[in-house]
Amino acid sequence: MKKIGVYTSGGDAPGMNAAIRAVVRTAITSGIEIIGIIEGYTGMMSGEMEPLQLSSVANCLQRGGTILKTGRAPDFVKPEIRAQAAAKVKEAGIEGLVAIGGDGSFRGAHALWEEHRIPVVGVPGTIDNDIFGTDSTIGYDTAVNTALDALDRIRDTAASHNRLFIVEVMGRDSGFIAVDVGVAGGAEEVFIPENLVSIDRAIQHIQRGLARGKTSSILVAAEGQSPGRAYDLADQIRRKSGFEAKVCVLGHIQRGGSPTARDRILASKLGFAAVRALQAGQTDVMVGEVGGKLVTVPLLDCITKKKHVPNDLIELAQLLSH
Ligand code: ADP
Repeated sequence: MKKIGVYTSGGDAPGMNAAIRAVVRTAITSGIEIIGIIEGYTGMMSGEMEPLQLSSVANCLQRGGTILKTGRAPDFVKPEIRAQAAAKVKEAGIEGLVAIGGDGSFRGAHALWEEHRIPVVGVPGTIDNDIFGTDSTIGYDTAVNTALDALDRIRDTAASHNRLFIVEVMGRDSGFIAVDVGVAGGAEEVFIPENLVSIDRAIQHIQRGLARGKTSSILVAAEGQSPGRAYDLADQIRRKSGFEAKVCVLGHIQRGGSPTARDRILASKLGFAAVRALQAGQTDVMVGEVGGKLVTVPLLDCITKKKHVPNDLIELAQLLSH
């Protein structure tokens, strides 16, 4: 393999730059040319690509976002559009691709292999941690720490005013961030898509806390299908119990910021592993880390199987809220 391409796609995640850096430096030191494809599938379709050097990735490790830009290209679901993009990749002499993104990006990569026989290796980069085949995704640890920092600050003001707060974190289909933040931040209740708790139970928890002199209550809610779900929850709680809840929607601040050491290290390992996998002739796989070991998992599994929030963690969040 003489030349490979790398791109970031879908939602950005802190640590993507560390992954790009590892891909670039592993490739170049192995004698492989490396091309950066700009803005994910958008740049692949238009042929916006640029050769990357060792110096192209200097001073990016600590930066959030992605130096290659990312984007959403809804047209990429059309086979004829993918054929155009595949032609651009082949024209550029690219013999393999590293796709850094979430399951949507992996669907596109899987199709490029299936339909056009372009070797592809995926690197899981998404703050949601909802990718099957890896214990953690790049960006997740940073997002949890950012949300936790916000929750700690809210706890200060909640305790000073004897207030009830609902903090909404990201996680459309999965409650990984919410449960981690709930356990680490001592939330009284956690609302996640996987385990819908009733409003009545949340109210009981708040009352129980008040009865034994708690000065603040914080509920954590995953955003659900659209941001702002916490306002609905606050409304329901007010109507049923009279408790007035303040709402704080953390939103996009959870995406930005400097990646944690954990995310930088994971990204560095996975970027390295992705290039090694392509060199070894592997394709249509994702590189991940399970139990501290680097693994490769078929992309098809990553896009068809679901990773669930561990039940014992959900139970722990509930038990410790007593
Ligand atoms: P993520 O990769 O973070 O899950 P998206 O779901 O938005 O983000 O997917 C990123 C991009 O991947 C989409 O904008 C589209 O270009 C491409 N993509 C998503 N789903 C498919 C699909 N089923 N087939 C081909 N390409 C897809």
